[in-house]
Amino acid sequence: MGNFEIFSHPNGVVFTLFALCCLFVSGIFAAKEERLITPISCMLPAFIFDFLGSWVEKAAVTAYEQGSAVETYVMFELLLFLLSMILMSLAAAAFISGASTKAHSSNLPVWILGGLGAIAVISFTVIRPAGDIVNNMRLIFPFVAFLYLAVGLASRFSSVNSNGYVLAFGITSILAITVGLKFFNIYTPWYITPMSYILYAISFLFMKSNTLEDNLAKADQEIAKYNLRIEEIIKSSPFPIIISRLSDDKIILANNNAVKLFGIKPQEIEKYHLKDFFADSDNRRLLLERIEEQKEVQDFEVLIKTPVNDTPFWLLTSANIIDYNYDVALYSAFQDITSRKNREAILQNQAIRDPLTSLYNRRYFESEVKKQIIKAKTANQPYSVLMLDADFFKKVNDTYGHKTGDKVLIELGAKAERALRDKDIVARYGGEEFVVFLPEIDSARAYKVADRLRQSIASIVVYSDDNQKVKFTVSIGVSSSEISDNVDTLVKTADEALYKAKQNGRNRVEVFTKNDLQNFINQGEQMSNDEKKNLHPIYDKENSAEISLLDGVDTKDIMPDTTKD
Ligand code: GH3
Ligand code: MG
Ligand code: MG
Repeated sequence: MGNFEIFSHPNGVVFTLFALCCLFVSGIFAAKEERLITPISCMLPAFIFDFLGSWVEKAAVTAYEQGSAVETYVMFELLLFLLSMILMSLAAAAFISGASTKAHSSNLPVWILGGLGAIAVISFTVIRPAGDIVNNMRLIFPFVAFLYLAVGLASRFSSVNSNGYVLAFGITSILAITVGLKFFNIYTPWYITPMSYILYAISFLFMKSNTLEDNLAKADQEIAKYNLRIEEIIKSSPFPIIISRLSDDKIILANNNAVKLFGIKPQEIEKYHLKDFFADSDNRRLLLERIEEQKEVQDFEVLIKTPVNDTPFWLLTSANIIDYNYDVALYSAFQDITSRKNREAILQNQAIRDPLTSLYNRRYFESEVKKQIIKAKTANQPYSVLMLDADFFKKVNDTYGHKTGDKVLIELGAKAERALRDKDIVARYGGEEFVVFLPEIDSARAYKVADRLRQSIASIVVYSDDNQKVKFTVSIGVSSSEISDNVDTLVKTADEALYKAKQNGRNRVEVFTKNDLQNFINQGEQMSNDEKKNLHPIYDKENSAEISLLDGVDTKDIMPDTTKD
């Protein structure tokens, strides 16, 4: 700004140098932002050259007053002002282009003009000294520099955050005016220079914060765009999708399919937490553990309940952690698998149930009782097994028809289930034979239970197709934990007792005792396997099971009846 007045004031230089230092510190700090590197690194040396120019100007004036030659001083002074102008122009160009990389390519004209300026300076000061032209030059250079810089700074007003540029523009304009006033010999006070340095220092800090704010705004825009894209994808997805905040589990977004599936109103989604829909907290915990471990889960089965309907249903979910709306969120996509689950349940049920009576089948009975025996032994509890066989059942079939026989079996099973406790296991063992496991019941109590059961079965009345009353009885054999802890042996010995009940007149209960066990073992040792097979009903279990599958087929039609009389 060619303000050599600073040298006429006793403290002018000190203040100016101090202000220049502040400008440097702030400039170096602000120039760490990429967008500000070029303009600031041009502006800082420009101020130095300007200061040096003013200093040389002061020396020239002093030399002139002493009558010494001034050409060399003036030439250096003008060259310094010229260099300062070039650097200011480069800063202005950098502000205009807005990007430090582009600034270099568009700077050639500035350097060319600078070269021509240098030739003019040398020509008018050394070759043919022209006082007026030289006087104008020392004003024109800073004037042009400030004008251009002001234009450069104004070009940044369009950015969202621009108060740093506005402040710098204000200072620059004032400086341009003060230089302009010098054309009319109106001089500005010395302190304008240090003050403008300080204000530039402040404007640099503002520029830096503006740049940071701009970057933040840009990042915000990017995030908003990204969120919008996610929202669109989610909304158009054929699957129900929910996004919930990981920190507090609140639902942030749910598409139409999810809203429908979860039975909530679209405008109310933010009222809910994802956990509100989990019917089983253990199931949810397991899911969260998996997500925490692996950051995502695929095809995880979750049991869901909804606010409108408390009956839980199964969904398959795939979930992963995403960034959404400045939050870490859980993205969960769902698939309704209720029908699949139902089918699975039906199949599972079919595998363990007898289709005619809906009681458990023999396979389930054997595997379940194995587990129950282990439990009972651990708890040191007794247990018993009952073997039931309908008496003269063949006659029922022969007299009333096979359909009525089926009805009898159904009623018999239903009655046994009703008469016994929930924890007792009633199963159809095969044909017209049923087996019961009674936990916590010893043989003495089992006898009583069996006898009560026998009596209540005897009271059942079934009607045949031609509406005749059909009554029937059962014989029951009892075995217990006093005899064995092996399912097969328990069933065999209960069957042995059942055989005894049949022999002793039917419609009665017999208990397999420890004495029987000894006889049973002795008998077994004396006989060959074939003999055992032919003589005893308990070895005929496989055949009896086969028969049960052949509805309506008489045993005697397929094999000789060797087991019963
Ligand atoms: P007992 O008193 O000695 O047990 O005589 P029972 O007639 O009951 O014995 P037997 O073993 O001779 O006959 C069993 C009959 O049960 C033969 C078979 O046709 C019939 N049966 C087996 N399974 C079914 C079934 O699912 N439905 C019907 N209706 N009858 C069946
Ligand atoms: Mg039988
Ligand atoms: Mg029978």
